[in-house]
Amino acid sequence: MSEKKIPTKMYLDESELPRAWYNINAVVKHDPALNPKTLKPCTLEDYSKVFCTELSKQELNVTDEYIPIPEEVQEFYKMIRPSPLTRAYCLEKVLDTPAEIYYKFEGNNTSGSHKLNSAVAQAYYAKQEGLTSLTTETGAGQWGTALSMACAYYGIDVTVFMVKCSAEQKPFRKAVIETYGGKVIPSPSMTTEVGKSILEKYPETGGSLGCAVSEAIERANETPNCKYVLGSVLDYVILHQTIIGLETKAVLEKFNIEPDILISCMGGGSNFGGFIAPFIKDKKEGKKNYRIIGVEPASCPTLTRGKYVYDFGDTGKTTPLLKMYTLGSGFMPAPNHSGGLRFHGMNPIVSKLYHDGYIEATTVKQTEVFDAAVTFAKSEGILPAPESSHSIRVAIDEALKCKKTGEKKKIVFCLTGTGYFDLKAYTAFNEGKMTDYVPTDEDLAKGFATIPDIPQNK
Ligand SMILES: *Cc1c(COP(=O)(O)O)cnc(C)c1O
Repeated sequence: MSEKKIPTKMYLDESELPRAWYNINAVVKHDPALNPKTLKPCTLEDYSKVFCTELSKQELNVTDEYIPIPEEVQEFYKMIRPSPLTRAYCLEKVLDTPAEIYYKFEGNNTSGSHKLNSAVAQAYYAKQEGLTSLTTETGAGQWGTALSMACAYYGIDVTVFMVKCSAEQKPFRKAVIETYGGKVIPSPSMTTEVGKSILEKYPETGGSLGCAVSEAIERANETPNCKYVLGSVLDYVILHQTIIGLETKAVLEKFNIEPDILISCMGGGSNFGGFIAPFIKDKKEGKKNYRIIGVEPASCPTLTRGKYVYDFGDTGKTTPLLKMYTLGSGFMPAPNHSGGLRFHGMNPIVSKLYHDGYIEATTVKQTEVFDAAVTFAKSEGILPAPESSHSIRVAIDEALKCKKTGEKKKIVFCLTGTGYFDLKAYTAFNEGKMTDYVPTDEDLAKGFATIPDIPQNK
């Protein structure tokens, strides 16, 4: 096998596809989410008021290492999976590096991202529970698209609160969501109390995921037979996204590839967590020594500059309190072109892994990211999403380090999606009009001031 050339595209057969998700909570224990009123650990009842019951159960499951994927969800997955693992021979050539670069491509579906992996599971459980509608938020629009696709498949209505600056940058996203029957409301909006109060304070705001979450929860609470679903941040979303990591691990083993470095971008942590989860046990037990690198935008540096405390997931301070790295739920990131990465917090499992030193985190600036995106697009033929290009930047940088040292490291990254709806951003970059905004310590202090003052945070 070692003599044989590694193919450019590597797939699992249908019979080799994962039939269960990997529940990393059975292996990595983090502090429990708290009910903000009682400051006691959230119960199934607390969660089920907002989220589907089955998803709430998954959120609280810290015992089963594997959770079966429902047959119907497996059937849907077969339309879009397995996603290919590609050896980036052309990129390696352009970089003239001895490193081997591989990427798992999650953008080969209409939503253009990995988000459909969880959207279909969430819509399935909503349908099982007899719900007739769902609400959600979307940043860049990928999650809103994915959920509207999944809801169309199961015949459920969906209202999507879309971060305003993204809605303005990407009118065609709205058109796709509406084509699948979803309703789009730019956030903050005047249609909710929390939206009105945010607009009163910040009339010029381009919005944030945190605001959109609050609006979506408010709408779900006042609508009969409706619940709220989330596209990232929570542990159950990571659970669904482990399909990425399980396939990656299996296909690497199938082709005898032993990775040295695993890289992915981090917004709320769902693709990153799902991508790396199946690799963590071996690393934790000292059997493998992978470097695992999470990449965040310099404009929203949650792990690298945030605090590890209990905080809300939304600006309106309505969600359970999560123990996580956070910039404060009141942090308003500067409008940048990676809408999917503009979240003030980070999933609790990913936060815990970072806190315990099992993973690294790094930040990159927007213009460096687009520079890498263009190099990748020209060599590999895929126009990457700005979010995914954060991973490309770091993969290229690691490969260039190998060029200096002569090391043949095997670098694997998750290419989370495509950038066809991000052409405004590409245009700004091509015309030399893109800027890099890095928040000052003063800017961050304003966000930190919104972190709840509770005994657990002392
Ligand atoms: C949403 C999104 C991300 C970031 O979200 P995570 O939950 O952190 O994975 C990254 N890439 C793309 C293409 C996205 O749509």
